[in-house]
Amino acid sequence: CAATAYLVSMRIRNRKYWNRSLAILQEFQSECTTSLFRLRQVVDAMTVEMHAGLASEGGSKLKMLLTYVDNLPTGDEEGLYYALDLGGTNFRVLRVQLGGPEGRVLRQEYEEVSIPSHLMVGSNEDLFDYIALELSRFVESEGENYHPKPGRDRELGFTFSFPVKQTSINSGYLIKWTKGFAIPDGVGKDVVQALHDAMKRRGLAMRVTALVNDTVGALAGARYWNEDVMVAVILGTGTNACYVERAEAITKYHGESPRSGSMVINMEWGNFWSSHLPRTIYDEDLDAESLNPGEQGFEKMVSGMYLGDIVRRVLLKMAEDSFLFGTEVPANLYKPNILRTPDISKMHQDESADLREVAKVLKSILGVSSTPLKVRMLVVELCDLVAERGARLAAAGIVGILKKIGRDGSCLSNRSKCDQGEGRHTTIAMDGGLYEHYPKFRKYLQETVAHLLGEEIAANVSVELSKDGSGIGAALLAASHSQYVNT
Ligand code: BGC
Ligand code: MG
Repeated sequence: CAATAYLVSMRIRNRKYWNRSLAILQEFQSECTTSLFRLRQVVDAMTVEMHAGLASEGGSKLKMLLTYVDNLPTGDEEGLYYALDLGGTNFRVLRVQLGGPEGRVLRQEYEEVSIPSHLMVGSNEDLFDYIALELSRFVESEGENYHPKPGRDRELGFTFSFPVKQTSINSGYLIKWTKGFAIPDGVGKDVVQALHDAMKRRGLAMRVTALVNDTVGALAGARYWNEDVMVAVILGTGTNACYVERAEAITKYHGESPRSGSMVINMEWGNFWSSHLPRTIYDEDLDAESLNPGEQGFEKMVSGMYLGDIVRRVLLKMAEDSFLFGTEVPANLYKPNILRTPDISKMHQDESADLREVAKVLKSILGVSSTPLKVRMLVVELCDLVAERGARLAAAGIVGILKKIGRDGSCLSNRSKCDQGEGRHTTIAMDGGLYEHYPKFRKYLQETVAHLLGEEIAANVSVELSKDGSGIGAALLAASHSQYVNT
């Protein structure tokens, strides 16, 4: 009868649409695959670009920025230091009393404040006034357990997590903003000068003795405890890496030779680009609609600020083309960045049989009240693809660095390639919320580093979470570079 015929035709139609959703997923999967073969091409491209970026200014999309950090903390640092960490969505102020080799970190305190979003896209002066205000409040709470050096201004390590062209250990100008920041009048300005000016307006007497990227802070913070640390990686809102490079390898550097014979290089790998990267139409759209189109291509496939939005874009396509969430497309699915990486982490790691967490997230964020189990499974699969691609690309980046410094085992077959310490243990210090709070991402990354290196070499390499190292690291660098700074 007519009713049965109608039901049958509906079922056929639904199946057709469901198959269409699956086809979209499969297409995405095949475009973003990261076979070991392809990852090896990414490893090689990373190494090649590192060489190019070190050879000349503008030689590569990888800026390979000089940091002027030529001595890493040893443990001998002593005294009271402050640090300020400005980067993703929060900024942190920190105070530490260092006690030298015996005492190490005698005491430390910090405060974290979120940056009001209007300041991230406002004026440079407003941003730095806000920072100086919070900093001065914090300094006032010093108390008598801390001992400033008599007759001297308090010293500050400034972690500034954006690409900066440094002119010395404590000066440098902003090349461009990244992540959610867009303050046009800040570009090209000396960030230390901007901070000093704001502190002056507040009547705060302090001086910056080290300006560092967060990767460099993380490297210093981890190196303080562990001499094997050669590389630091941030996987958070944004992503980046730095490592210890031999002075002779930094061809573009013509300044005074580093006291230690080496210098930390801030790679700014978020801007890495290679035709071997598995880029999809969704990545292209995300880039085009971002605050910084054409920039930070690697970051947009890897870091926490973007993973959620890639998932949203694929879901939107499925909702529009094949009614994944019913006849109407959920209005929220059109909103950029509404699905955040913590949400996809939650869905991806849902262990319940009926995928309850997935249902909850879909409901609370997209307003989809009920979803069949197979739809939830598809969502989990999609999160898996996006996280896995990001983690594996980051792993390839790490192996690229190890290759550049001769710690990837290439030494074993070609002795002339041995830059530094063949056969020694290498530790990669890792920080950032994406790595810390997304276990499946972490697992993919670790497995992939091991696969790419092979068992024997991987036994000599470890990736270690060094939480919040960047704040204390900046304070340590403020200490270790304090005597070299002109006043
Ligand atoms: C910035 C880097 C920073 C990284 C991690 C990127 O967007 O360009 O300087 O190290 O984010 O915070
Ligand atoms: Mg940070």
